[in-house]
Amino acid sequence: MKKLTICLFLLLTIGWNALASVAQGVPPPVSPSAPTMLDLSAWRGKTIVLISAHPDDIEACAAGMVYLLTSQYNVTVKYIIVTNGDKGCSASFCLNSTSQEISVIRYGEALNAAAIVGVDPSNVNIMDYEDAMVTAYNEVEIRMRLTKAIRESGADVAMTWFPYPQFKLRPSQGWGDLGYHPDHQAVGKLTLDAYMNSGIKRLFPDLGSPARPGQFYFFSFTDDRTHCVDIGQAGLKQKIAAYLAHKSQYFSSFAMSYMLTTLASEMAKGTPATYAECFQAYF
Ligand SMILES: [Zn+2]
Repeated sequence: MKKLTICLFLLLTIGWNALASVAQGVPPPVSPSAPTMLDLSAWRGKTIVLISAHPDDIEACAAGMVYLLTSQYNVTVKYIIVTNGDKGCSASFCLNSTSQEISVIRYGEALNAAAIVGVDPSNVNIMDYEDAMVTAYNEVEIRMRLTKAIRESGADVAMTWFPYPQFKLRPSQGWGDLGYHPDHQAVGKLTLDAYMNSGIKRLFPDLGSPARPGQFYFFSFTDDRTHCVDIGQAGLKQKIAAYLAHKSQYFSSFAMSYMLTTLASEMAKGTPATYAECFQAYF
């Protein structure tokens, strides 16, 4: 009883502080804590949809997890890739290619990469918007297409980019454009908008029945991560194989493999895993 009283006191104190913070216009304090390890068996037999900006994003952020979901837990994984990636080439064979040629190359690479981690090509939806130009298109048009795609996916879980700049991920520290690609932010925002819209029956009633995934996560590479997946050696191996299917996106397969291994190792810090992929929950 004494314990219950203390707990009640703590609850009231925390609740009061949170309310006081909101009243002052600032969010309640959040204590940094170690990320929770996701138990993928909880998603057995379910459907997950990953929404990315570019054809190689999912491989960089979540392909190890995708491989484990499809190979061990009978999860149906669906990809929605908003742009065709037609501005991106880092390999010698496409340095002089046109944007149209690159878009064709990247379409094939995306399907090959998805297949390596067990995703059926029919579940890869490339929306074909121009690379690096998501913010230039009609916002409502993309939001409607994403709302329709999310509803039709029947997904239980959705994942996408974080919708704001992540200045902790600095190019000078090896993060490239990961934390500040306008397409990443735009797709994160549009997906979150579409996710909220997807469950509202009076909104876009011609775009399918209302259906909103029960869980929503952002890809995370910062200490804001709330959940991580232990992808293990097997998940890392398939993640690297899937990324290397994007032959137009690297100059050296050795360097790219090393970078992905280092990334997975860094993400695992503070967790029981050796290699991990991490996410920030929003639900
Ligand atoms: Zn990208």
